[in-house]
Amino acid sequence: MTDILYTYKNQVYANITNRCDCSCTFCVRSTKDTVGDATNMWFDKEPDFEEIKRAIDAFDFSSYDEFVFCGYGEPTCALENLLKTAQYVKETLGLKIRLNTNGLCNLYHNRNIIPELAKVIDSISISLNAPTAEKYQAVTRPQFENAFPALLEFASLAQKAIPHAQLSIVDVLPPDEIDACQKLADERGIYLKIRKFAK
Ligand code: SF4
Repeated sequence: MTDILYTYKNQVYANITNRCDCSCTFCVRSTKDTVGDATNMWFDKEPDFEEIKRAIDAFDFSSYDEFVFCGYGEPTCALENLLKTAQYVKETLGLKIRLNTNGLCNLYHNRNIIPELAKVIDSISISLNAPTAEKYQAVTRPQFENAFPALLEFASLAQKAIPHAQLSIVDVLPPDEIDACQKLADERGIYLKIRKFAK
């Protein structure tokens, strides 16, 4: 059975899709079979909302105050289930909702989905990964040619509409690239989180 919910470092995460519009060189999906206490993160068939709801109803959330969309795919590729799930978790459990995303969702859906996200998402972490379009294309290998400017525009929109928004990079980037990423974040008034690279 595939884990829809799993825990990792005292956080509870939702795995709702294996779809993704990137093919990052560093993606955990190509190096590890699972994350945290999950036993299987690959779906034979993507779960529908009823299956996600059953997994939530069966889970003990008493030690958690936040519900994080992450998993083995880009959560916004399953937008309808993401929105329904976030609303359900907020209404029934009162947890804060965080979305970890590659920030290409407006390209993927060919419209601005921020207003829909802003109704149910309390915080959003957007993977920046690189300081230039050229480097971004090389490291994330997205389906889209104009991914990097779209990501930056998405981050600016998110910063205005979602209470806590951040861009994120990992600490393995060279110092000059980290500085350049910091500049991009500062120009947009958005916090840059420099995460430790998890091997
Ligand atoms: S965006 Fe996330 S899930 Fe998709 S390939 Fe990159 S690291 Fe993996």
